[in-house]
Amino acid sequence: MSYKLFIPGPVHVSDKTLNAMTSWVMGHRSKDFVNLYQAIQPQLQQLMYTQDPVYLSTSSAWGVMEGAIRNVTKKGVLNIMSGAFSDKWNDVAQRCSLPCGALQYEWGTPADPEDVRRELSTGKYDALTLIHNETSTGTMNPLAEIMAVVNEFPDVIAIVDSVSSFTALPIKKDELGIDVLLTGSQKALALPPGLALLSVSEKARQRAATVEGRGYYFDFLEFHSNYEKGMTPSTPVIPLIYALQSKLEDIFAEGLETRYARHERLNNLVRAWGAKHGLSLLPPPEYGSKTLCCFRNDIGIDLEGLRKAAKSRYQFDIDGGYGKIKGKTFRISNMGDETDETITELLANLDVLVPEFTAK
Ligand SMILES: *Cc1c(COP(=O)(O)O)cnc(C)c1O
Repeated sequence: MSYKLFIPGPVHVSDKTLNAMTSWVMGHRSKDFVNLYQAIQPQLQQLMYTQDPVYLSTSSAWGVMEGAIRNVTKKGVLNIMSGAFSDKWNDVAQRCSLPCGALQYEWGTPADPEDVRRELSTGKYDALTLIHNETSTGTMNPLAEIMAVVNEFPDVIAIVDSVSSFTALPIKKDELGIDVLLTGSQKALALPPGLALLSVSEKARQRAATVEGRGYYFDFLEFHSNYEKGMTPSTPVIPLIYALQSKLEDIFAEGLETRYARHERLNNLVRAWGAKHGLSLLPPPEYGSKTLCCFRNDIGIDLEGLRKAAKSRYQFDIDGGYGKIKGKTFRISNMGDETDETITELLANLDVLVPEFTAK
């Protein structure tokens, strides 16, 4: 059975993107590959608002999330935690035997820049991880305010995950002072899974050069020396790079401001739909994500029943809540290629399903 994904990742992939992947594979040491990588590089830099190189990693986002902390942590990494993905980053740091500290919030609570200042002031840290848009809880952290604090501590390398927010709103890497900005392919970019993008500052690379045990596959210095030749350290997932090139065409044809406005508008449609059904967002609304809504299941919807009916009757799926908040919350994505038409149709179908699967 095939159905359209309105879960917050992986998200629905357009036919145009899928078709782009069917081009014949090229040699990754060929001039053709160098031309492809060099052609998309300026667009990637523009989307990340950076002068730093953007590397392509054949992995899901976790590859470079783990790689980044292994490249730059010496004294310790502070993990800002407020949901499944940000909590796990601390777990990953421990599994890598890196010195690390947890700044833990309740799920759905945005990080407070004052707490970040207090933690960094201990002098225990030379790296920090932050998830801009915590997908598990639909919460957007106040990125600019947090980065302003981090920039008071020049020894701290800031690693920011934009997996579910990249290109949905501007994230100005250089202006904000982000050292490592990373994203994956299957969420905000609406590509199939398997490719990650990361931009690394010179400061982060200089740090990496002094760190032992960086490994090979995600080594910043390997990424960089290959990047200078227009290449990747090992054989990349070439079909996904074709898909990325096609997606970049779409993004620049739409225009960035139009794309940002579309995400905001569609997100507001979903929020208004929730309000109409008596559903509140898990986070405070001003920190609600622009790419998905995580609603509290205030009205006791039978989410499993609803999702089954959504798939069989209307050929779509939404998410029934992540990890420990499964069933207590549910999530609807508006990231990627969604339009006023697709979201309006989705919400009309949910208007039928929600009363049917809510106990009277
Ligand atoms: C999905 C997600 C990840 C993990 O991505 P993978 O592609 O599964 O490695 C990391 N961070 C955020 C914010 C995510 O939404």
